[in-house]
Amino acid sequence: MPDRSFLDWPFFEQRHRDWADKLDAWCAKNLPVDHSDVDAACRDLVARLGEAGFLKPTALDTDNPGPLDVRTLCLTRETLARHDGLADFAFAMQGLGTGAISLFGTPEQQQWLDRTRAGKAISAFALSEPRSGSDVANMDMTATRDGDDYVLSGEKTWISNGGIADLYTVFARTGEAPGAKGISAFLVPADTPGLEVAERLDVIAPHPLARLSFNDVRVPASAMIGKPGEGFKIAMSVLDVFRSTVGAAALGFARRALDETLDRAGSRELFGAPLFELQMVQGHIAEMALDIDAAALLIYRAAWTKDMGAPRVTREAAMAKLFATDRAQQVIDKAVQIHGGDGVRRGHIVESLYREIRALRIYEGASDVQKVVIARQIK
Ligand SMILES: Cc1cc2nc3c(=O)[nH]c(=O)nc-3n(C[C@H](O)[C@H](O)[C@H](O)COP(=O)(O)OP(=O)(O)OC[C@H]3O[C@@H](n4cnc5c(N)ncnc54)[C@H](O)[C@@H]3O)c2cc1C
Repeated sequence: MPDRSFLDWPFFEQRHRDWADKLDAWCAKNLPVDHSDVDAACRDLVARLGEAGFLKPTALDTDNPGPLDVRTLCLTRETLARHDGLADFAFAMQGLGTGAISLFGTPEQQQWLDRTRAGKAISAFALSEPRSGSDVANMDMTATRDGDDYVLSGEKTWISNGGIADLYTVFARTGEAPGAKGISAFLVPADTPGLEVAERLDVIAPHPLARLSFNDVRVPASAMIGKPGEGFKIAMSVLDVFRSTVGAAALGFARRALDETLDRAGSRELFGAPLFELQMVQGHIAEMALDIDAAALLIYRAAWTKDMGAPRVTREAAMAKLFATDRAQQVIDKAVQIHGGDGVRRGHIVESLYREIRALRIYEGASDVQKVVIARQIK
């Protein structure tokens, strides 16, 4: 039985507890899904999560505008990740892919949000490039003004939902200044001529992922999100909201690993007693529980601080993401160990968690980058 005691923490309001209960009940009925065709599975998950109303927190409600509720985003990712990593992915990308539009979009651009919140359109966030991953400000892709249009040329890689998205938030160099101050953001519908999937990428925990090529992709100037030269600032503002949610997904994976471990250690008999009675195993389990509670405190501190109106939570979000993802990796590794041979058996839940967690320490700022961010924030 998963630990729910954290929901009593003062970070939450009753609406958060009700939301978590409702979502958990839905997950128990509907998840996990079959992952053998990840494109089909993600399309189906987006549609079903949308139909059930669970994608609403991912983007601005244009009828009732207000800030995104980061506690709800985190609780949703944590809950979905505990049940099925692909469901968490489907939810997360609806938010990351439209974050710039929610925060900085024009009313016309925000018309997309009704569709993404209802699960009727899939979104993606296209920032990384082959030559500039962590070094985002060094991107090569250009957007050149041509009359009333911009023409986008270059490549993006590691784009989640690449190939199945209906719309992409794309960052490109418009050249107002060198480096970070010369980048702008654009809303690019997937069917815009010249936008092509150059390569599908296969990773250890498969989900739709692609390298995209932009061959003179022409969009109207009204496709720009925010102002010229504001793209880097926009990307960082979006990550400021969503970075702690990556920690929340890691927390969901870690909680599942602990639950599985408790079941296993209670039911497996070794040396005439349940595995749980071995003190070394108890030591591992205590460390797992401690890491999980500490990660949850950092995540919900970051989320609560943002929800209380802090303009930026760079330090809090970086700490939450760094700690939660690194420690979830260790928690899951202990779970694999305590499961013995079954822990590395393909298809076993802890084996899949072991694969699922790894990329979270790389994307949306690698762990090393988070350390640099934290150090600069506390200088
Ligand atoms: C599964 C997955 C999904 C992704 N989804 C998306 C997406 O939807 N949209 C998108 O735009 N991108 C996405 N990415 C890209 C991701 O954000 C990049 O992989 C990440 O930013 C790292 O860039 P890189 O892979 O080029 O590694 P590099 O930039 O080459 O970095 C390699 C390593 O160098 C170290 N390092 C880098 N910088 C520093 C530093 N300043 N100090 C110390 N060490 C450092 C880190 O250990 C880092 O892991 C995804 C990646 C993966 C793996």
